[in-house]
Amino acid sequence: MASVIIPDMLSPEQIESRLERILLKVQKPGRYVGGELNAVVKDWDEVKTKVAFIFPDIYDIGISNLGLQILYDLVNQRPDALAERAYAPWVDMEDLMRSRGIPLYSLESKHPLAAFDILGFSLPYETLYTNTLNLLDLAGIPLRSAERRASDPLVIAGGHACFNPEPMHAFMDAFVIGEGEEVIGEIIEVVQRCKVQYSKRQDVLRQLAKIPGVYVPRFYEVKYQEDGTLASITPTVPDAPQAIVKRMLAKLPPPTTRFLVPNIDVVHNRVSVEVMRGCTRGCRFCQAGMITRPVRERSVEEIVQAAEEAVSATGAEELALLSLSSSDYTDVLELVTRIGEKFGDKHLTVSLPSLRIDTVSVALMEKLKDRRSGGFTLAPEAATERMRRIINKFITDEQLLDTAREIYARGWTNIKLYFMIGHPSETLEDVQAIADLCKRVLAEGRKTLGGKARVHAGVSTFIPKPHTPFQWVSVDTAEQIKAKQELLMHELRGSAFKLSWTAPEDTLLEAWLSRGDRRMAEVIFTAWKNGTKFDAWQDQRQIEAWTSAFASQKLDPAFYTYRPRPADEVFPWEHISDAVRKKYLYTDYRRSLEGELRADCRQDCDACGILPTFATTRRQYPGIYWKCPEVKSPASRKQIAAGGG
Ligand code: SF4
Repeated sequence: MASVIIPDMLSPEQIESRLERILLKVQKPGRYVGGELNAVVKDWDEVKTKVAFIFPDIYDIGISNLGLQILYDLVNQRPDALAERAYAPWVDMEDLMRSRGIPLYSLESKHPLAAFDILGFSLPYETLYTNTLNLLDLAGIPLRSAERRASDPLVIAGGHACFNPEPMHAFMDAFVIGEGEEVIGEIIEVVQRCKVQYSKRQDVLRQLAKIPGVYVPRFYEVKYQEDGTLASITPTVPDAPQAIVKRMLAKLPPPTTRFLVPNIDVVHNRVSVEVMRGCTRGCRFCQAGMITRPVRERSVEEIVQAAEEAVSATGAEELALLSLSSSDYTDVLELVTRIGEKFGDKHLTVSLPSLRIDTVSVALMEKLKDRRSGGFTLAPEAATERMRRIINKFITDEQLLDTAREIYARGWTNIKLYFMIGHPSETLEDVQAIADLCKRVLAEGRKTLGGKARVHAGVSTFIPKPHTPFQWVSVDTAEQIKAKQELLMHELRGSAFKLSWTAPEDTLLEAWLSRGDRRMAEVIFTAWKNGTKFDAWQDQRQIEAWTSAFASQKLDPAFYTYRPRPADEVFPWEHISDAVRKKYLYTDYRRSLEGELRADCRQDCDACGILPTFATTRRQYPGIYWKCPEVKSPASRKQIAAGGG
């Protein structure tokens, strides 16, 4: 195991001295120095286990990642462990680091990452994969799990993208599936035990494979059929379970409040309190909504107190109340009222994302009055009744127009509308309807605001993500996407409209990576070797590097994107379970083809699979903050059956 500085490894002092010579030559040197308010620097030699959390994009983006801040805080609360951080250096810094022989290091103590016991990569989205390889390379750590030595750190990833871990299976020693707050402690304990016993790397990994929610890919064998689809995924050792069921916390832990305060201007300079986790709306395109089930809420009291502590610990001027669907938080009105009262005349803006399209949402935003940040955003996602039924996001045009009228009447001049093109069975008429609806919204604004009214249409492209009811469908071709985007560009001209969209290449890249199997690992490796990184940056990613990587591996990218799947296809993510049954998802997909809606399951449980998987946990944590029905204990079920009430 690592954590001892090995002779050819630079010491923190050597790294600092080399850094001094280059920092004034790069853009924003504040990205690379650490020392932020609330950063934790422990005595390296006094602590048993060293963890480095890494966000594989630049500091400006990674610093506000909530998951990483939560884990950083949790590990640093342990007296026997420390957590430090690293982000991707921008290209100017990377060039200098490579030319001066500076390995990737942690911001807190400036230790090289190779000196840590555990590297925890945050992978919330797939376009971070080549950066992950690049950072391992910059840290001097073998890229492939199979090539790592006893002295190398354990390389572990977590985050939403890991619900299909297979494209990255060769590079990670293990993946955490689901929520990380408890599992990080269990991993640290395994590492500590194994260190005492001088366990071999393979034995440490076997111990990790026993932790619920931890997937160790080397202990699974994948077989393919002649047509290239999967035949089976089977564990090869008794310690590895057939299905890796996600970790899920029955009760959300106390929110993190000691947020890191960045040294420089960053994308989101704010503190965040998660008001609830999970979503029960059942939008069929939404992966986050499926994999984060069930809904668990925090109490108003806990949120308000955390907000107060976070603001006082950081001096933040912006508070984000995070969730997948703010309007669905049971006591949203009380929460907003209490936040307003608590912060009195303090200068604090509050963001409340993902509001439902109704006038109640406008009233909510109105309550925030001068605290609201940014414009007003609504996400109808589709513009015809047929499409809304297919995706299970049903609102009427009248609801949208009434809401827009209220928003403009209360002084907002700009409404941002999110739509998605490429939904299953979408035609050009459905896309034309998006343009028509934007025009009708603008017309409402003009009635009150005249020429000042604006509409911003943000149009992304649908990707059939794993673990959703649409995982069986194909992606639009680049030509189809372009035709739809050109129609919108033609229709939404003029200064009152702003139109933004996702480049077709970005959509296809994300689709390949999110739907890929184990063979994609070599494509990712080759694309990185071909020079691609920062794939999430439109001006950086190089699509030719990807297409030539596919060719070199004799794989057809269309296999992953343009192919509808039969009902019984074995998916590459088949062994990863978010506890929502495949049968439930398939039935929902068939329903969508009939235009059948599924109601919010808070009103009527749809038996998605969550409760049978977590029945024991639900029994242990009864009550109102977990929004699934209560589960009776086996004893009381027998009593009911016997007529005992
Ligand atoms: S178990 Fe029922 S209430 Fe809970 S998430 Fe699934 S469908 Fe919704």
